[in-house]
Amino acid sequence: MAPSAVPASQQDDVNLTAAAIHRKEAAQPATKPHPNGHSNGNGVAKVAPLDASLLTYTLTENPRPVPDEAVANAGDETVATDHMVTAVWRASTGWATPELKPYGPLSLMPTASCLHYATECFEGLKVFRGYDGKLRIFRPDRNAKRMHMSAGRISLPLFEPAELEKLMVALLSVDGPRWLPKDKPGNFLYLRPTLIGTQSQLGVQAPKEAMLYIIVTFMPRMDSPPGGMRLHTSPEDMVRAWVGGFGYAKVGANYGPSLMATQDARRRGYHQILWLYGEQGECTEAGASNFFIVWKRKDGQKELITAPLDDKLILDGVTRRSCIEVAKERLAGEIEVTERKYTIAELIEADAEGRILESFAAGTAYFICPVSQIHHRGQDINIPMGPEGAAGEITGKIKGWIGDIMYGREQHPWGFIIPEKESRPAED
Ligand SMILES: *Cc1c(COP(=O)(O)O)cnc(C)c1O
Repeated sequence: MAPSAVPASQQDDVNLTAAAIHRKEAAQPATKPHPNGHSNGNGVAKVAPLDASLLTYTLTENPRPVPDEAVANAGDETVATDHMVTAVWRASTGWATPELKPYGPLSLMPTASCLHYATECFEGLKVFRGYDGKLRIFRPDRNAKRMHMSAGRISLPLFEPAELEKLMVALLSVDGPRWLPKDKPGNFLYLRPTLIGTQSQLGVQAPKEAMLYIIVTFMPRMDSPPGGMRLHTSPEDMVRAWVGGFGYAKVGANYGPSLMATQDARRRGYHQILWLYGEQGECTEAGASNFFIVWKRKDGQKELITAPLDDKLILDGVTRRSCIEVAKERLAGEIEVTERKYTIAELIEADAEGRILESFAAGTAYFICPVSQIHHRGQDINIPMGPEGAAGEITGKIKGWIGDIMYGREQHPWGFIIPEKESRPAED
């Protein structure tokens, strides 16, 4: 039943996710705080919204040497840039002044909410040094909105998505010039906004204290493993997400429990799990990436197909959305783009009939990564790749177009340019 079809008094019973976020937003208006105190004049307590314009800057005295990409990615520890942004939230006062400061450890009590009840959500996006010399992030508005949604789902404080975007940009304006130098176009770093419940009280409850932080790190290139990405379907006793669950939110709780299956797939020589769902084995996601098939339908029509968003099983990936939009716009006439449920049995049938043309995983980490094999219950589906192990034709075109926007070979509204000072702040 649609939430709108029920009386207002029962809407919480039908769609609590929407009702709870609506209530929270009403209680936490996204207006500027009153200069003194937290009252709106009607005697109603008003808490401070997240406000990027208040950001304070404490620059490091010891800027670290910027490592070579290969060296940075070789160890067992993620290498971060010199600075991070943090902002603390308390239920009574709202968001405190955000701070840009040297990268370093957080201080948490062992009783902190996130350590026990997984009150954590995060985002991931890359920052690219373009071939035109500019620094860009890709559709950051989508990540900021998604983090807002995830925060609401996990009972963490809300914020105006545009303020999170501004904080990301501020951090990149400081660390971008030195860590992604202009003379190395084609390089990227990874931005990880994170929100954690920090209240130091055991007990299963929504945290009254939280911390937002943003870090910038190295990340290996994973978009073209030799021979393509090989997927192993999920075992019968495991699902990544379920209808009524939270697979659509980027909350840490989605990932820890998936590691067992992934580790086992690695042991068997596969890269990632193709997560199936339900009795029929619906294809949902590949690892923590969205999953696409290019095939010929039975009626002969070429189709790009991926799982739908409507049952909230899968994550609404920015890369997924971009692939769909760019394919609809630039491959119209050549290929149909379809978001619907489809099953592993349909793939096996299409494979037997020689109708599978290409497949790829799509997400920030793997970007657009050709898939060459799916192993399901003792059976292999071998998927064609392009010549010499490159992406197939459709995959390659989509990857090329989106990559061009990321690296400034095509000027496009999806590429957000980071303002940079000519001099490097840490050396002033
Ligand atoms: C982050 C993520 C994706 C990819 O989303 P992008 O916005 O494209 O990076 C896909 N699936 C899951 C489960 C994810 O966590």
